[in-house]
Amino acid sequence: MKFLDEYRDAALAQKFAREIRRLTTRPWTIMEVCGGQTHAIVKFGIDELLPGQITLIHGPGCPVCVTPLEIIDAALEIAARPEVIFTSFGDMLRVPGSTTDLLSVRAAGGDVRVVYSPLDAVKLARQHPTREVVFFGVGFETTAPATALAVLQAARQQLNNFSMLVSHVLVPPAIEALMSAPECRVQAFLAAGHVCAVMGYEEYPPLAAKYHVPMVVTGFEPLDLLQGILMAVRQLESGRAEVENQYARSVRRAGNVPAQALIRQVFRIVPRKWRGLGEIPRSGLGLAEAYAAFDAEQKFGRSTRPAQEPAECLAGLVLQGLKKPGECPAFGSRCTPEHPLGATMVSSEGACAAYYRYRRPSTPESGL
Ligand code: SF4
Repeated sequence: MKFLDEYRDAALAQKFAREIRRLTTRPWTIMEVCGGQTHAIVKFGIDELLPGQITLIHGPGCPVCVTPLEIIDAALEIAARPEVIFTSFGDMLRVPGSTTDLLSVRAAGGDVRVVYSPLDAVKLARQHPTREVVFFGVGFETTAPATALAVLQAARQQLNNFSMLVSHVLVPPAIEALMSAPECRVQAFLAAGHVCAVMGYEEYPPLAAKYHVPMVVTGFEPLDLLQGILMAVRQLESGRAEVENQYARSVRRAGNVPAQALIRQVFRIVPRKWRGLGEIPRSGLGLAEAYAAFDAEQKFGRSTRPAQEPAECLAGLVLQGLKKPGECPAFGSRCTPEHPLGATMVSSEGACAAYYRYRRPSTPESGL
């Protein structure tokens, strides 16, 4: 296949769905750990094509959603400082912290700017030598190489007025944390194709063996997802627990080796708190000692404000796949994309936002 619409071929999708129905003899629960996959599943109704025995649940696949409240609060404090130009990807601006969000800080006079690349933030630092330019480095392994490159450029240009608030997270430790939780009901995983394009999938076979779960590296188009589910069901029905690669057009087993070298050069592995999941050992990237001068938390100090999640938000349970967005009493009433209570309603990759957009009967996109 060469063109995007070929990955949305309805006849082929029905063929995959028929094969999944033919093979399925028992109930199976499969989790995807990628917000892009979650949105495609909900948007294209992939779950509705499957037999009733197959339950798809959505994991912590949205990096914006899992960024801990403490880091958002730290971002808000730094962004409010008069000497700071605070730069971020657009998704982070409306994520609620304990009391406010970055958009409100901007409305109150803070210099908060959306950038499309961390290198834009480096450029700003060069253009404004008397200001402190801070980049909010949020994301999975996918965006970490670009963040690392920005730090290297800033170091090369000796930009003392550039720093990063880093909250990069790593997917395999989160999968391990989910699987070791006693309430976990996941029987197979669709691994995120874009993360594996960078990191490869050599970390997955030990997890598949330890927890006896099939893991299928899967892309984002409807046919990718249906084929990934079919491969997972085939394994489940035959009692296998292996790592397979549905997304072979983009993912190699070893991944993107130069990008991994960049990550290793600039970052070190640290424990990281995930919103809704708590602290997970070795699940984050922090700046390596050699680049500590670019660490915004060291430069401006850590937030001391006690972080407080809104009591009625169930995003933690949604991110663990224990609740669906529609089971939250605030969904669509007290919590909407315009007035979000939790990050999963804000981000373009958040599960609550996906259900709000595509599964409310009154929306044109929902088709209901
Ligand atoms: S609908 Fe809103 S309040 Fe409910 S879990 Fe999602 S983000 Fe939280």
